Amino acid sequence: MKAITLLSSGLDSVAALAMAAESLEIEMAITFDYGQRAVQRETEYSRKVCEYFGIGHRVISLDWLAEITHTSLVNRDEEIPALSVEDIDEAAPANITENSAKAVWVPNRNGVMLNIAGSFAESKECNYIVVGFNGEEAGTFPDNSFDYVKAMDCAFSYSTQNGVQVLAPLIELGKTEIVKRALEAKAPLEYSWSCYHGGELPCGECESCVRRARAFKNAGVKDPLLERLGI
Ligand SMILES: [Zn+2]
Repeated sequence: MKAITLLSSGLDSVAALAMAAESLEIEMAITFDYGQRAVQRETEYSRKVCEYFGIGHRVISLDWLAEITHTSLVNRDEEIPALSVEDIDEAAPANITENSAKAVWVPNRNGVMLNIAGSFAESKECNYIVVGFNGEEAGTFPDNSFDYVKAMDCAFSYSTQNGVQVLAPLIELGKTEIVKRALEAKAPLEYSWSCYHGGELPCGECESCVRRARAFKNAGVKDPLLERLGI
């Protein structure tokens, strides 16, 4: 069975790729450039990850999506929220992470990416599109949920001749479990970039950095990216 994978180089997409690669032939990875602040890091790291797995890599530019996205992930005039580990705790008021999610929301991003990937998958006779959607983020990002995966599978049964399916190996997992499974699958996490910013080093304060740090702490291992960067 063959698959293509969506790859942002974040913890989740690198973990999902490593886990899928254990049982599937991965044809290629697609990274999207929609003007996000971290695009250079994501592109560079995704290339390294693809070299590690020996798979093809294509970067697809979505200029129009950059143009119509006004939130902070793309728009440098808006500030990306800084969160603490208490803010992402289950006991914290839900509006903190809801507001953070709204501040980095990109209109129909996963819908666009999956549909483009669906065309590549059908064209290359691949059965699956591997994604890093996960249980931890499904709470605030509905396009990370199991229901969304099912809905896309249904849509692809109409729009692709080979009935492409979305494969989301992390769909029920929190980040701590994702770290553990990724390390078991020998994922090259030293080249995974989760930070919403595109600096030399991860900021440590955005929601993505805070979730990643908590996951490694709870898993009881050092983050291979921070070790490589000498932090
Ligand atoms: Zn960050």
